[in-house]
Amino acid sequence: MSGVVLVGAGHAGVEAAAALRAGGYPGPVTVVGAEGRTPYERPPLSKEMLDDGADPAAFSLRPEAFFDDRRISLIAGPAVAVDRARRVVELAGGRCVGYDHLVLATGATPRRLDLPGVALHGVAELRTLDDALALRSSLAGAKRLVVLGGGFIGMEIASAARKRGVDVSVLEVNDRVLSRVVTPPVSDAVAAHHRAEGVRLCLGERAARVVGRDGRATGVMTDRGTLLPADLVVLGVGATAEDGLAAAAGLATDNGVLVDPWLTTSDPRISAIGDCAVVRDPATGTARRLESIQNATDQGRYVASRILGETRRYHAVPWFWSNQGSLKLQLVDVAGEHDRRVVSGGAARFSVLCFRNGLLTAVESVNDPGTHLAARRLLDRMTPTESELLDVDYNLRALARRVIAGESAVA
Ligand code: FAD
Ligand code: NAP
Repeated sequence: MSGVVLVGAGHAGVEAAAALRAGGYPGPVTVVGAEGRTPYERPPLSKEMLDDGADPAAFSLRPEAFFDDRRISLIAGPAVAVDRARRVVELAGGRCVGYDHLVLATGATPRRLDLPGVALHGVAELRTLDDALALRSSLAGAKRLVVLGGGFIGMEIASAARKRGVDVSVLEVNDRVLSRVVTPPVSDAVAAHHRAEGVRLCLGERAARVVGRDGRATGVMTDRGTLLPADLVVLGVGATAEDGLAAAAGLATDNGVLVDPWLTTSDPRISAIGDCAVVRDPATGTARRLESIQNATDQGRYVASRILGETRRYHAVPWFWSNQGSLKLQLVDVAGEHDRRVVSGGAARFSVLCFRNGLLTAVESVNDPGTHLAARRLLDRMTPTESELLDVDYNLRALARRVIAGESAVA
């Protein structure tokens, strides 16, 4: 028996391996990692890990003994090819590992910018623990930071750098921060928070080039001709799916590895999960690739259960969080196209309820964890209509209590 091989020792791959063992999978379980480290959590890299003194060991995904105790082999990759005919994964260095089932959990990689000056010293990106350690040490000596991109990475790094007293400018091509993931009221609240912390936000502006002297970055010239001086420049301009291995193996890909609602690729012996997977539903024609811990871990657990015999399709309510200094942002699903939104709460603590065709589809919470939790509980059970919410004055906690109490009464 060759067992299950998981390529990628990140959140998705490790969760799937752990869930296979927890579910009683008897065969070999092998996780191939490319980073040569004990698997670790990625969210702290743009938060706690940028503080001096934070210990990387505190952010291991599982203690090392966990893998030995559960007979999960962690082997150093990277995987360089998949031979589907022989059902073998080839590793750098020539070693091969056979599989009965292969799970691709290769994650995503920072989008590279084709920008003059981007190769200068002092231009950094952030995806791995090594990147975070390098960025932390650069921040220690930095006076002025320019972040390209006002997404999650950009705004979280801006907070961490301000906390260290660094002068920070964020350059974002869109006219608001976090435009890919949140609605304008939340973008406005995030922008106000950062401005109050002293971050300079340059919205609707694009970097034209990184300028430098003696091989080191000294600033960023924007497309409006503004020069933002900097001794450190960080790129936070998005991520692309790591789907090269899958594409080279002849699997269907399209900005990610295409999987069906059971997370199976175009080869029934190969699944894909986490940031690298695009879930396409042939019935509705929708395709979705999410980049979040919830998605990676839920898909990891699901794929393990499916290998162990589950026949239902994957289903989970997506949720996200981002901590930016004292601002806590929590999202249930992504608002995307919606035709109506209702803001409940005040300026310091509020939630945005997004509706499409009279149904609640997404909830964005700023410093409002109770509403976030209620939204997750509710949307996991049902899709509330706007009239149901109107009945409780748009109080999601009240509706969640009512629905859950109703369930208990029936039970
Ligand atoms: P990854 O965690 O990226 O793991 C994939 C692994 O596969 C990597 O270690 C990679 O090296 C390895 N790999 C790739 N190719 C190969 C190969 N050929 N052979 C072997 N190994 C390979 N999400 C949240 O929900 N909340 C947050 O607060 C949050 N903060 C984040 C902060 C940062 C700085 C970053 C970068 C991301 C953050 N995210 C956050 C996103 C979240 O970390 C990702 O969605 C999640 O890590 C995806 O898990 P994954 O296992 O699919 O991919
Ligand atoms: P992101 O959320 O896609 O944000 C990148 C932003 O940069 C987008 O608004 C993008 O605009 C903009 N941009 C693109 N090119 C630019 C340019 N040349 N100059 C200025 N702005 C530019 O991606 P990210 O913040 O880099 O994050 C990368 C990955 O890490 C994602 O998977 C993200 O989900 C994950 N992450 C998550 C968290 C969290 O969940 N808390 C925290 C950190 C990281 P366009 O959209 O128009 O291209």
